[in-house]
Amino acid sequence: MKRVIVVGSGAGGAAAAKKLQGKFQVTVLEAGREFKPFSINLSVLEKLRKTGLFFDEREIQLLFPSMSVKKTPDSMVMVSGKGLGGTTTLSAGNALRMDKGLKDLGIDLDDEFEELYREIPVTNDHRPKWRNSTKKLFEICTEMGLNPVPLPKLGNYQRCTGCGRCVLGCRYHVKWDSRQFLNAAQDLGAELITGCQVVKLVMEKGLVKGVQAQKGFNTVFYPADLVILAAGGFSTPVILQNSGIECESRLFVDPVLCVAARQKGSLQNKELSMPFAVQREHAILSPYFDYLSFFFHPSWRYPAQDIVSLMIKLADSSAGTVDNKNIRKTLSDIDQERLREEVGLCIEILARYGIKKDTIFLGTINAGHPGGMLPLTANEAGTFHSPRLPENLYVADATLFPEPLGNPPILTIMAMAKRVSKIIIDKNGL
Ligand SMILES: Cc1cc2nc3c(=O)[nH]c(=O)nc-3n(C[C@H](O)[C@H](O)[C@H](O)COP(=O)(O)OP(=O)(O)OC[C@H]3O[C@@H](n4cnc5c(N)ncnc54)[C@H](O)[C@@H]3O)c2cc1C
Repeated sequence: MKRVIVVGSGAGGAAAAKKLQGKFQVTVLEAGREFKPFSINLSVLEKLRKTGLFFDEREIQLLFPSMSVKKTPDSMVMVSGKGLGGTTTLSAGNALRMDKGLKDLGIDLDDEFEELYREIPVTNDHRPKWRNSTKKLFEICTEMGLNPVPLPKLGNYQRCTGCGRCVLGCRYHVKWDSRQFLNAAQDLGAELITGCQVVKLVMEKGLVKGVQAQKGFNTVFYPADLVILAAGGFSTPVILQNSGIECESRLFVDPVLCVAARQKGSLQNKELSMPFAVQREHAILSPYFDYLSFFFHPSWRYPAQDIVSLMIKLADSSAGTVDNKNIRKTLSDIDQERLREEVGLCIEILARYGIKKDTIFLGTINAGHPGGMLPLTANEAGTFHSPRLPENLYVADATLFPEPLGNPPILTIMAMAKRVSKIIIDKNGL
C-alpha cells in the first residue's frame, strides 16, 4: 500500500486522513500534542490580571500550550491551534457552508458537504438556552432590519452547560472538533506522530520523497509516496517556501474587532460563543465575549460577567505574507474604512441596548482564519492541484481559498480536503 503523509490534524488534515486511510497507509504528522482545554478558572485569572502580569497576548501560550499566538509588526494578534484537532478545538463551533468563491471557479462541492452533514451533527438547538442579553441583542438587530440568524453549530448543543468557554476548548464534549475524524482515521489504521514539526519537503527528480521534521532535538526524515500539506494558512505556506515553492502574497486572516461596554450582569461570559450572526456585505457581527481582550486589553478591566460585546469579523483584503520569521499583514485603507463603518453600526446596536455611546470601548484586533496563499484558480477546478507543486504533493487546508470569507471556514475546508482526497484516490485507480 502506498504511504501518504498528512501534515497537520486540524480541519483539512483530519478530513483527508479519514478519507484516505485504508486506500493508503496514512501517517499524520502533527506539530502539537494532545489537546487539553484551558482549565484555569476565570476568577483566578481576574485576580492575576490585576497584578499587571498580563501585558502581551503571547503569554497565553504558557498557560494554554494548544493555542499559538503570534503578532504582526503592527501588533495584530494572530491565533491558531497547535495540538491535536488544530484550530477546530478553539473554534466557536460555527458550521457554515461558505463556498461561493469556489463555485465562481466552477467547483461544485455538493457531494462533499452532504457527506459532512451525514458525518457531523450540525444543530441550531442552542436557541432555547440563550441568555437575556443575547435575546435582547437579537431583538434589537431584528428591529433594525439587520436580519440576524442563529448560527448552526458543530456538535450537540442540547448538552451545552453555558460555561461560555467554547473558544478555550469545550470541556463537556458538546462541540465537535476534528479530533473525531482523526480518531476515526486511527481506528482504520492511520498512524499519528505528535510533537513533530515538519520543516520542509524532501524532493528528488521533481517528486516529493518525504518530509524533514523536527522531533524534539532530532531532525527526522519521514519517507512517503505522497504528501498532503494541511498545516493551516500560516504554516503550509512556510513549509512550501522552505522547500523552494513560491506562494502568493495573498494572505487573508479575517480580522476580528470587538465593540464592548460595561453592562452589569450581562453574563455574556456564560453564553455560548457567537450564538447568532448578522451577515453584512464585508463582515459578520455576532455577540462574543473576547477572552484575549479581556485578559490583555486595559479597557476591558471590568468583571467578566459585566461586559457586553459585539464582534466584527471582517473579510479583509488578500494582501499579506508569512515566512519563517514573521506574519506580515496590515489592514488596507479599505479594510479600515469598512471596519469603522461596522464599529459605527455596533455602537448603534449597543446604544439601543441602553449603553451610553461615550462609554463604549474597543478590543484588540485579532485574527484566526488565515488562508489564501496558494489560491485555487479556475484552471485547477478539476484537479485541486497547482502546477507549482510536484505531482505527488497536495495542499488540503485554508491555503487553497481563492478569497477571504469573513466567515467561519471549517466546513468548507473539510469539504475541500475531501475533494482533494477523492481526486487522489481516483488518480491512483483505487
Ligand atoms: C478563536 C477561534 C474561533 C474560531 N471559530 C470558528 C468557528 O466557529 N467556525 C469555523 O468554521 N471556524 C472557526 N475558526 C477558524 C477555524 O478553526 C480554522 O480556520 C480552521 O481550523 C483552519 O483549518 P486548517 O486545516 O486550515 O488548519 P488548522 O485547523 O489550524 O490545523 C493545522 C494543524 O497543523 C499543525 N501544524 C502547523 N504547522 C505544522 C508543521 N510545521 N508540522 C506539523 N504540523 C503542523 C497545527 O498544530 C494544527 O494542528 C476559529 C478560529 C479561532 C482562532
